Amino acid sequence: MQPDVIALVALEGEDSAVEALEARLRSLEPRLQVLERTRETAAATLERARTTLAAEQEKLIQAKTRASSSRTLQERNQKQLDSITNVREATAASAQLDQARKIASDAESEAARATVRVEDAKARLAEAEQAMAEIESSQEAERTAIAGERHTIEADLRHARMKRDGSAKRVSQPLLGRYEKVRRRRRGQSLFPLINGACGSCDTKLPVQRRLEMSRTGAIEMCEACGVMIYAPAPEPVAAKV
Ligand SMILES: [Zn+2]
Repeated sequence: MQPDVIALVALEGEDSAVEALEARLRSLEPRLQVLERTRETAAATLERARTTLAAEQEKLIQAKTRASSSRTLQERNQKQLDSITNVREATAASAQLDQARKIASDAESEAARATVRVEDAKARLAEAEQAMAEIESSQEAERTAIAGERHTIEADLRHARMKRDGSAKRVSQPLLGRYEKVRRRRRGQSLFPLINGACGSCDTKLPVQRRLEMSRTGAIEMCEACGVMIYAPAPEPVAAKV
């Protein structure tokens, strides 16, 4: 085989190696995304639990303030009633006191319910915090493993690219230009040997004369049927007789 053919075959092998490593690098992404989605879900639950607790604590403060002020009002009404001697005034003050008692009692019930809700929100926050901690610790090993794989692949990729660039220098410029164009278009193997006189990719037979010419000169040609580059792998038996 011609040196150009040998160099191009080597180059294609190295391009495939580079692409395989790039694909492996990309395949790490979905694994990270799965971890990230799980963590985000837990983080959102945690954030909601914090917001709920803050809101319930605020409501509790308000309920306690209302309970305290209505209790003060009730005490004031009680004192008022105690100081009254007139029966008619006493009846009115007594009604006012009853109303104040009712308001104070309602406010205290509300404060008690708010206390229960705060305790409930605290428990849910603790659960969410624990769930988050568990997710983070369980993901740590997986994230370390992925980072290790990435590191190895990136090192291999640097090496493979260097080798690839070295091989590219051994292919003549016009041939390299043609090859890169075909490879970009096909996104895969672009160089095939002739197999039994046919294109190694699509199996279309080449005219005998053209095959002989390729064997003799080592020329790399395009398959007119499928557009790959084809080369004669070794002198064909017919060529030996020429
Ligand atoms: Zn073909």
